Amino acid sequence: MQDSQIEEIKNKLNVVDVVGSYIKLTKTGINYRGPCPFHSEKKPSFFVSPNRQMWKCFGCGKVGDIYEFVKEIEGVEFGDALRILAAKAGVELKRENPKLRTERQRLYEICDLACSFFEKQLDASVVGKEAKEYLLKRGISEESIKKWRLGYSPDTWQSLSDFLVGKGYQRQEIVKAGLAIEKEGNRSDSYDRFRGRIAFPIFDLNSQVVGFGARVFKTANEKETAKYINTPQTFVYNKSAILYGLNFAKLPVKKENNCVITEGYTDAIMAHQAGFINTVAASGTALTSQHLEILKRYAENLILAFDMDLAGDTATKRGINLAEAQGFNIKIVDSYSGAKDPAEIILENPKNWSDLIEKARTIMDYYFDSAFEKFDENIPEGKKQIGRMILPAIKRIQNRIEQSHWIQKLSEKLGVKEDAVLQELSSLRGDDSRRGNLDSRFRGNDNGEIASSRLGGTRNDASTRKKLI
Ligand SMILES: [Zn+2]
Repeated sequence: MQDSQIEEIKNKLNVVDVVGSYIKLTKTGINYRGPCPFHSEKKPSFFVSPNRQMWKCFGCGKVGDIYEFVKEIEGVEFGDALRILAAKAGVELKRENPKLRTERQRLYEICDLACSFFEKQLDASVVGKEAKEYLLKRGISEESIKKWRLGYSPDTWQSLSDFLVGKGYQRQEIVKAGLAIEKEGNRSDSYDRFRGRIAFPIFDLNSQVVGFGARVFKTANEKETAKYINTPQTFVYNKSAILYGLNFAKLPVKKENNCVITEGYTDAIMAHQAGFINTVAASGTALTSQHLEILKRYAENLILAFDMDLAGDTATKRGINLAEAQGFNIKIVDSYSGAKDPAEIILENPKNWSDLIEKARTIMDYYFDSAFEKFDENIPEGKKQIGRMILPAIKRIQNRIEQSHWIQKLSEKLGVKEDAVLQELSSLRGDDSRRGNLDSRFRGNDNGEIASSRLGGTRNDASTRKKLI
């Protein structure tokens, strides 16, 4: 790599734009200021200087140029930061140093080639065409199929692997990318992971393909096989840190300071197609602390369109608790009363979806409504259960005035003395929302295949019928 190209990229890009594509910056005098993405802080002490083309955090002391910033925020080596910024600047890298062609980069290439391979199948094979028909019938437009790079993985054992080997990649690398599985007792041989499935590529924040979610489609043994499987954890794919669609949604989310989080791939796709472009999908996992760390760079407000059971000790609920503890304002869309996915609601009429978003309830209203719906506030046992459901949420409220408001409301609605509510509140054990890593709602087996049912409490028929896509 020539130093001149490193300089060329630096000259073409403005540090304010590069940093500003990750965090919210506000102009202050000749500089820009924002919340530091590298440490947690209440008052922004992270500064960007357009004159010096540098950034510095006066809180944690980190400092650097655009390369340092991308290295830090993406968690990559210099070679990858260079490629990301070269792409941004529209500079084609010449005479690439083989040392910079990192293992990680080869995995990106493999994922991208696999994605193209799957995309082509939608027009190339008979079943591929049927898969495309299916997607169109679900309301996903031709344009969206292209934008989200949807595809079909043929129901064969090695066609993808053979294609990638033909492009110069080792079988072990294809296994490392999560696209093939080693044959037992034969480390040099492998078979394709995704067979006979509609493939949803999963992108990182820079729209690089890092993995796939795949839905079974017309395989011979459709009944015995898991409906959805994903790429397992790889060097480039960290399931608990990726929100589906955030690569497309990040700027709108930042602009509106608001992110709508749905559950399934098609929910996010249909939302974007209908113009709700600040939408992402958690794609089968509950919100994790890593998701929230990333979202924090873009917005303070979250609207959750999840299928929820707040009474059980579910991963979803813990995700909400985590988000509350991190200071997000949370609203809940109650879209599941009719047992319909956001994707289905949007397909029927986008207006219905925007109405639901408009009517999203605050998390406290949601807790109150759910608790009073579920239990009878006129009998002692019911009062106790309602308290049990709502009090932990009240306990987590940081602001004392706001907290006092809900204590009052609860005592009024239950017809009990405020003192009693206060005493119960103080006898609650401390905040349990900082417990760290959350279970994903689905547990995958070694092949990344979804093996068992959801964790957590009992669910009604409507939510059991809820599909991921
Ligand atoms: Zn800092």
